[in-house]
Amino acid sequence: MAKKPHEHHDRPHRHHYDAEMLSVEEARERILSYFQRLPVEAVPVVESLGQVLAEDVVATFDIPPLANSAMDGYAVLSSDTKGATEASPVELPVTGVVPAGQLPDHALEPGTAIRIMTGAPVPENADAVVPFEDTDELERRASGGLAELIKIHLETEPYDNVRGAGEDVESGETVLRAGQVLRAGEIGVIASLGHQSVNVVRRPVVAIVSTGDELLQPGQPHESGKIYNSNAYSIAAMVSHYGGVPKIMGIARDTIESLEGALEEAMDADLVVTSAGVSKGDYDVVKDVLSSKGEIALWSVRMRPAKPLAFGVLERPDGTKVPHLGLPGNPVSAMVAFEQFGRSAIRLMMGKPNVAKPSVEAVMDDPIRNHDGRRVYARVHVYRDESGGYRAKSTGNQSSGVLSSMAQANGLAICPDDIGMIDVGEIAKVELLDWPDDIF
Ligand code: AMP
Ligand code: MG
Repeated sequence: MAKKPHEHHDRPHRHHYDAEMLSVEEARERILSYFQRLPVEAVPVVESLGQVLAEDVVATFDIPPLANSAMDGYAVLSSDTKGATEASPVELPVTGVVPAGQLPDHALEPGTAIRIMTGAPVPENADAVVPFEDTDELERRASGGLAELIKIHLETEPYDNVRGAGEDVESGETVLRAGQVLRAGEIGVIASLGHQSVNVVRRPVVAIVSTGDELLQPGQPHESGKIYNSNAYSIAAMVSHYGGVPKIMGIARDTIESLEGALEEAMDADLVVTSAGVSKGDYDVVKDVLSSKGEIALWSVRMRPAKPLAFGVLERPDGTKVPHLGLPGNPVSAMVAFEQFGRSAIRLMMGKPNVAKPSVEAVMDDPIRNHDGRRVYARVHVYRDESGGYRAKSTGNQSSGVLSSMAQANGLAICPDDIGMIDVGEIAKVELLDWPDDIF
């Protein structure tokens, strides 16, 4: 039997964590205290996917507007079809046709039928529609021409294949409420009420500044000793994924002037993200610049990867302030830190509740080792075994610089900070990278 994470507490390899460091939750709470919901804006409905509705949506008419046919067939008075079968059909004269989008030009006379298309309004006096399939329509069509007489093969009941007016939405009804996240269904409903635009909480613009003398921008020729700036792109993708608008700024070199210039351009965003320069080596330049432009806190977060984290507030020339998240430079550290902190900040600005990443409990195919009392986020591939249970397999090298194992991962398996190891066959909580975040 696999063991649950909490059963590890009696194990010999239990760890004492470093209380000087912040837990992920403490760091997140501090960071979120600097953010607020952004103002409301009107956007074209088609662009509102994933945004939070800022107003109740009330119907001003019925949908559908009139009783209409659910099938292509014949509108009839159901009592006229009494006893109809294929062997002894009821034959009715056809007096006209109602195409979709047009109103019937006459009422149904008892003892007759009117040809009707799906979605077309049902003529007065008709109370049911007999689908073509239950008539001799198809045989007649094969022998050419429209029927003047139609044979009904099935007895119908009142309201058969008739959709009532207001069956979907009634005039005056509140169809959607402020605070709802707009998905495809909600967007369709808004369009069905005839609206072209909708009031939603604005998307945050996130400026991404990369720092480092070693960086090349993708598209530049490859140079020995240099690496491409991947962080700006992975972070931009995460910003888009969580509903924000990424703005990739240039690369700041490891000098005060260069970083100052880049930050100045980035400051009109709702959040400035920098990558690198928060570990010991080259921190000084970044710290000097950031403290001269605002306030900065440097934290060690009890997590692996992504221990070093900077967070602060930059002051714009006009005196307003913009939060700054300083991510570590290592590509996986930057991504894991953004998942834990950037995602929550974007959700808060967009007016969404602070919910945890969706997670599953999975049996580990590989161990997760924790040698220094930090919460470990291990890159894994989650899959279902033959019995339908979740299992998680390491995607390989777990070094914080190895981005390919992040690309192969669909989840981050967690070893808590006070546990030395989750062994093969034991259960770990796995935060899923690719599941929707709003099903909770
Ligand atoms: P640093 O925090 O500046 O010491 O950087 C830590 C590691 O991350 C170094 O190996 C850097 O080369 C790497 N790194 C920094 N910025 C980026 C970036 N934008 N894209 C990819 N790797 C980076
Ligand atoms: Mg650097």
